[in-house]
Formats: sequence, structure tokens, C-alpha cells
Amino acid sequence: MPTNGTPSAASHLPVPDRFYQLLVESIQDYAIFALDRSGHILTWSAGAARLKGYARTEIIGRHFSAFYPPEDVAAGKSARELEEAARTGRMEDQGWRVRQDGTRFWASVVITALYDELGTLVGFAKVTRDLTQQRSETEALRESEARFRLLVETVQDYAIFLLDPEGNVATWNAGAERIKGYRAEEIIGRHFSVFYPEERIAEGFPQHELEVAAHKGRFEDEGWRIRKDGSRFWANVIITALRDESGALVGFAKVTRDLTERRAAEEQARNLAAEQAARAEAERRGEELALLSEQLEEQAIELEQQREEAQTLSEELEQANDQLQRALAEANDARQSAEAEAARAAEASRAKSDFLATMSHELRTPLNAIAGYTQLLDMELRGPVTPAQHEDLERILRSQAHLTTLINEVLSYARLESGAITYSVRPTLLTTAATNAAALVEPQRVAKNITLEMREPEVVEGSPFHVLADQDKLQQILINLLSNAVKFTPQGGQITLELQTEPDRRGMAQIRVSDTGIGIPADKLQAIFEPFVQVGRSLNSPGEGTGLGLAISRDLARGMGGDLTVESAEGKGSVFTLTLPRAV
Ligand code: ADP
Repeated sequence: MPTNGTPSAASHLPVPDRFYQLLVESIQDYAIFALDRSGHILTWSAGAARLKGYARTEIIGRHFSAFYPPEDVAAGKSARELEEAARTGRMEDQGWRVRQDGTRFWASVVITALYDELGTLVGFAKVTRDLTQQRSETEALRESEARFRLLVETVQDYAIFLLDPEGNVATWNAGAERIKGYRAEEIIGRHFSVFYPEERIAEGFPQHELEVAAHKGRFEDEGWRIRKDGSRFWANVIITALRDESGALVGFAKVTRDLTERRAAEEQARNLAAEQAARAEAERRGEELALLSEQLEEQAIELEQQREEAQTLSEELEQANDQLQRALAEANDARQSAEAEAARAAEASRAKSDFLATMSHELRTPLNAIAGYTQLLDMELRGPVTPAQHEDLERILRSQAHLTTLINEVLSYARLESGAITYSVRPTLLTTAATNAAALVEPQRVAKNITLEMREPEVVEGSPFHVLADQDKLQQILINLLSNAVKFTPQGGQITLELQTEPDRRGMAQIRVSDTGIGIPADKLQAIFEPFVQVGRSLNSPGEGTGLGLAISRDLARGMGGDLTVESAEGKGSVFTLTLPRAV
């Protein structure tokens, strides 16, 4: 039974056949041609030539199975299609067809049975369209969808699944199974809130997520989720709203990632970093402390050294102080004993002086009496005296005079020694003292025919030469030296008195008394300045002199800041040198 009445309807239209032919000829995108009842090609069009590659002459009369791949022909497909079109009036198919050059194309084919007025099948109209382009697009879409599905299904690291608009799980993938522990058949159809902890469900958080995603298109969250076995994991969740072309909400895509390990790793890294920082800080503090303690130790050592030094110093100071105290005490003792000694000495000296003064006085009184009565007798006031008796009286008088001199000198020396002598030191013209002294010894000198030479500069540096001296004492020393020179120089000798005005290096003037006398043995040169020392005499053999002259003279010289020294050669003479300070 024909279901498509188009050919018969067309035949009723007052349109010439030629018009149809032109129409068919002009259509480029469709191959439109006619087959006879057995399927042999009767007509050919430009669109058919373009589509299938055959020229009209090549294909007219051939069976239409030429357009089918050999395997389809072998399977009887072309025959089946023709049969179906004959039976039902129309057959539609999509499938691979073959061009003249052997290449294939995806074709949409409609085969329509053609009947004559009597309803007898006369042939078929075949319209073929090349759907290769369209098919490849659809195919590509399908493949990409399939690939995507496969991808989603096999992704292990993410739970990727769909929720329906109410939040029930619609799809499931391997990652979701791995992460959440449910198999697809266990979870599909259940509400996604099973993945949330109870407290979050109580807060209405899952619903809130969906609302936000629906409203804003997307919702992202990180938080605790629950696995099938009840254990928790830290998840990153992204929920995306899915809408169709009209904008109606069709569901949600949910991607969940398990960050437990990452979170643990991060935590661990954080802990590690904190630990390292703490350790570094502790090390740094430790180093600081070590440094500090080192410094403290050094300071302590330094302080200890300083303390020891201070201790040593204080000990030394103490010792020094002790020594000083001892020295002071000793000095004090010495001073005290010296003072005591001096007092004792002064006392003794005073006693001695007193004694000697008394003694001299006591001795001088009878000596004066002796002299007086001897002279009374010598003057024969008591009666005549024989010449021999005169001689004796003379001896008595001489002895009395010697004794008187001795007593005077002893008294003088005693007073000198006790410090009782006072000096009136003043610039003194040396020449005067020398001349006076020389005059006093002149009788004895002349008696022995001894010459005296005085060498004295009258004027020194424009003024008379002065020394600092007590004139009487200076004169006494010079008399002693000159009289000794006369005494110990034989007849016809010579005495020289020389004033050395050129000061020596101590600024002292020198007075030299030289003689050509007997001289003094070297071993006696110092002794003659001791009291009662006389060369070649003993106290038992009385004679001239007392042995006190030089002792007194040196004491006087030293008392005036000068000195008395001697140089001598036995048998040749002596030189006595008196030094005194020069008067400026
Ligand atoms: P004195 O002359 O009274 O004996 P001195 O003290 O003056 O006492 O002299 C001591 C002694 O020194 C003398 O006895 C004498 O031996 C000796 N002496 C002094 N002057 C001379 C001198 N110029 N030449 C030799 N001997 C001297």
C-alpha cells in the first residue's frame, strides 16, 4: 500500500514533465535518481553525479547496489531495502555508501516506490543526501561525551557526581567510590547530606550549599565529610549548578577532593616548620646564652684577677705600712734614744766642763800662789838667794808656767768638746790674722834664725780678701801652726805662709803653712790631731807642748765650716792646710 501519494498527486498537476526534470537536475545537494523494479538505474542527475562521482553514461543501467559497501551487498542489505520500499512504499536509512572512486560517505537515503495508475510497481525514486559532515560532528560530540564520561568515571582522585535538583545522588564515579566508600548502586538515589557530619546537617548546611550554588552558580567549601564507614576526611567541595538551555535548574555537579593527606602534610609541614623555627630559636638562644656565659666567665676571671691584684696590692700596702710603722717606731726609738743619748752626753759634757772648770780654777789658784811665792823668793825679798837657788827657782817657775798653759788648754779643749764655745763668724780680713799671728811667734823664730815668707795677694778681684771666720779663733789656729813650724824646724830653716785666694771646687779659701822641718811619720799623720798625741814623746817625758794644739785647731776650723789637714815627708818638712769658707 502506497503511503506517499506524491508521484500520483504530481501527475495530476498541469506542470510539464520537463519542469520536473529541470528541478531534479538543478538540485546539487541531493542525488535524485530513478530505479526500475529490479533496482537498475534509469535516470541520473547533476547532484547524483557530484555526490557519487559517476558520469551519467557510466552508471545508467547498472544496479544500485554499486553504491553499497561490498559487505552490505553480501549481507543482502540493498535487496532488503528495495524489498521494504516495495512492500511499504517507502524506506529510509542512514548508512555508509561508496563513491565511484571507492571512498565512503555517510548517507541519508530515502527510497520511494513508484506505481502507475493501475497501482502496479513500476520502479523507485531514490534520494540520497551526504551526511558525512553532519555525522562526523555528531560522532565527535558523542565520542567526546563518551570520553568525558569515561574520564569522569575513571578519575580516582576526585569524587565527581551529579545531584538532581533536590540533592539526590544521580551519578557516581570511581573517585567517589574510592573517597567515600559507597558503590554506585548503594548511593545513587540517596540524598547527598549523608556525606556530612551530623552537626552540619543539623545546621542545614547541605541545603544551604545547594541554595548558594543555585543562586550564584557555584559554591566552594573546605571541611570535614563522612565516609561510608563513618570516618572523617578533610574535603574540598565544589558544587556547580546545571541548567538547560531555557535556564531551568536540572541538577548539580559536585566535585569533591580528599585533602586529608594534603592537610596532614600541610599540618606536618607547619608543625615541622614551627618545630624547626623553635629549634633554631632554641639554638640561637642557646648560642646567646653560651656567649653570655662565656662573657660572664671572662668577666668573672677578670674580676677575680683584679680582686687578686687588689688583694696583693693591699697586702703589699699593709706590709709597706707595717715596715713604715716599724721604721717610724725605730726612727722614733732612735730619735728618743738619740735625744736621751744627746741629753745624757750633754749632761755628761756639762758635768765634765763643770768639773774641769772647777778643777782648773782649783788648780790655777795654788799655781798662782806657787808663781807668786817663787818670784818673791827670786827677788830676794825673804833674804839672799844663792845662784844655784836662783836656777832652781827659775825651773820651778817654768814648770809652773807649763802647768798653767796645760790647764788652760785642757780647759779650752773641754769647753770646745762640750760645745760650749760660741763663734762670731763674719767676713774677716785674712792678712790681719796672719800678720798678728806671725808677730806673736817672731821671738822664737828669730831666735832659731828661721825665715818666714808671707805670700798674700793684697787685693783680690778689686777688694781685700776676706774669709768667713771668727777672727780670734782664726788667729789662735795660725799661732798654733806657726809655733809648731818654728818648734819642729831646725835652726836656719824656712817657713812659708801662703794664702790661696783661688777658691777650690767647694768655694773654699786655703791657708797653707809649710816648713822645712823634721816632718811627721806617715803612720802618725792622723794621730797628731788626737788630743795629747805628740810624735816621739810620751806623757811621762814632759817637755814642750801639750799635744792639744792641733786637736783644738782642727775643732775650731771645723766649727767655722772649714777643716785642717796635713801632708808631710819625714826629714823634709810639713804642710798644714787650713780651709775656710770665702766671704763673697
Ligand atoms: P804640741 O805642739 O803642744 O806638742 P800639737 O798638738 O800642736 O802639740 O802637736 C802635736 C804633735 O804634732 C807635736 O808634738 C809634734 O810631734 C807634731 N807636730 C806638730 N807640728 C809639727 C810640725 N810642723 N813639724 C813636725 N811635727 C809637728
